[in-house]
Amino acid sequence: MTAAAQSHAAGFPVRKGERRWTTAEITKVRTQLAAEAAELRDEIERAESDIADRLGDSVSDAGDDQADVGAKTYQREHELSLTYNARDLLVQTERALARIESGTYSVCESCGEPIGKARLQAFSRATLCVSCKQREERR
Ligand SMILES: [Zn+2]
Repeated sequence: MTAAAQSHAAGFPVRKGERRWTTAEITKVRTQLAAEAAELRDEIERAESDIADRLGDSVSDAGDDQADVGAKTYQREHELSLTYNARDLLVQTERALARIESGTYSVCESCGEPIGKARLQAFSRATLCVSCKQREERR
């Protein structure tokens, strides 16, 4: 953890009744986020090289019957959508890490109120407080 992130820890807002963030708690959240980001990057890389491999094979698809081609197309689309999800998660994870570095972590991006420590310890990627999140989902 960088010195900057460390010096922010005590300043991250909490909700009423919650204890201040300690450096150890922020370190734990940050370590977890960093590990998730690394895993997601791996996953995306693997999926991309698989897809690239398969695109190279597509010439041999000519001899396959319709059912095979359908199954392969389905599999390819399924993998692509997994990659999109992983990318999305990676963006969110990196954003949370950047927010720890910049000292804006745990502030709701919508209303500026504390997101809450309990919520962040359960969903470390959260950038909205519970009420803003619910409002967004209702839209
Ligand atoms: Zn909010």
